[in-house]
Amino acid sequence: MTARARVAVHKFSSCDGCQLAFLNLGPALLDLAAAVDIVHFAEAGPVDPEAEVDIAFVEGSITTPEDAHRIQTVRARSHHLVTIGACATAGGLQALRNGEDLEAWLGHVYAHRDFVAALPESTPIAEHVKVDFELWGCPINARQVLAVTNALLLGVTPSDEAEKVCLACKRAGAVCVMVTRGVACMGPVTRTGCGAICPRFGRDCYACYGPAEGVNTRALTTRFEGLGLAPEDVARRLRFINNAAPAFREAARTVTGDD
Ligand code: SF4
Repeated sequence: MTARARVAVHKFSSCDGCQLAFLNLGPALLDLAAAVDIVHFAEAGPVDPEAEVDIAFVEGSITTPEDAHRIQTVRARSHHLVTIGACATAGGLQALRNGEDLEAWLGHVYAHRDFVAALPESTPIAEHVKVDFELWGCPINARQVLAVTNALLLGVTPSDEAEKVCLACKRAGAVCVMVTRGVACMGPVTRTGCGAICPRFGRDCYACYGPAEGVNTRALTTRFEGLGLAPEDVARRLRFINNAAPAFREAARTVTGDD
């Protein structure tokens, strides 16, 4: 990679929350802008969506025919492609419609369905093109952006934070909400990255950072049922923000007997 790398931030089907992680860098954003050329980042100003870049950050899932076409161009013009957030990495909330009646959903949501072009499913970027690194979270945070950018600029493989939220809880001295209060918490199967922010404020983790490595979803769903959750409620906990992540999708199918 050249001394002054070219960077782009692309948006697909998403809420823009992960792009805000860049803008939330604060003073570090000025340092980043001084170290790289940000050639495309529509939310921040520069617009050149077809520019060739060293690092392309991609937010959002593939939900429309235009998305499916455009991601091929982004991939062809990017040396490294990094997905940012649950939408780009696991289909996002919009993947909740996968497997449902698309026409019925469109009819319920839009007054004029004819103006909406939608693919049958919302899918992660990796189902369409090669992805070099994935940042999980809904939204991601500024620290993740800086870490992966620094690693790629230095020519080293970014480190993948795939351990469970429970470990972040222990390091932070947070009291376990499931052990002490019997609250159904997704922390035992969710990857860290958030700093265990929800448990530290006394509420359960809702898995916005997606599945951790080596998760035992069967043990957790059994525990949830022991806490009084019906199977469909257990499945709902798995089918939230990262519902298209295979570990969560398969666990939800198992618990509802749909497999
Ligand atoms: Fe918005 Fe969450 Fe998708 Fe990021 S991952 S774009 S915050 S919905």
